[in-house]
Amino acid sequence: MLKILMILLLTGCGSFPATQGPFLDPEIREYYYEFIDEANARGHIIEPIPGIISVDRNLPVDAEGICDAVGLTNALDDALMYKITVRPYDAFAGYEFQDDVHKMVVIHELGHCLLGISHTEESCQIMNPATDYFGPECMPYDWDKLYTDMLGERK
Ligand SMILES: [Zn+2]
Repeated sequence: MLKILMILLLTGCGSFPATQGPFLDPEIREYYYEFIDEANARGHIIEPIPGIISVDRNLPVDAEGICDAVGLTNALDDALMYKITVRPYDAFAGYEFQDDVHKMVVIHELGHCLLGISHTEESCQIMNPATDYFGPECMPYDWDKLYTDMLGERK
């Protein structure tokens, strides 16, 4: 993976200076910007760091999304880059609230990668690692409440 990132760095015409945001797969671009807006509105300062957010069908069976930190120590705080991979939109085609479920996975991984937020056991929360938030008891999602539970009140 590091090799791929290095190739991108070397061939990307300076695509990843520290002041720029990540490469964003078009399928999830809008979720990224919404997350940044919501985090900022709640007092979190998110410095843009280089990274990649991509869509990939070939995740392990037990993962809908993954946040990888890529850096010297492989710890989020010291990450030089991050890589978020999520399943593609159509992988959630069986769900009644397909848009929300797909978005939930992206926002969950952004929480890990951009803010270092850990998992919670609370049900119907973005950072719950189980898939209980895909169930009808959590639907339809109240996104303002979900963001408040995850990121705090709006300032
Ligand atoms: Zn997680």
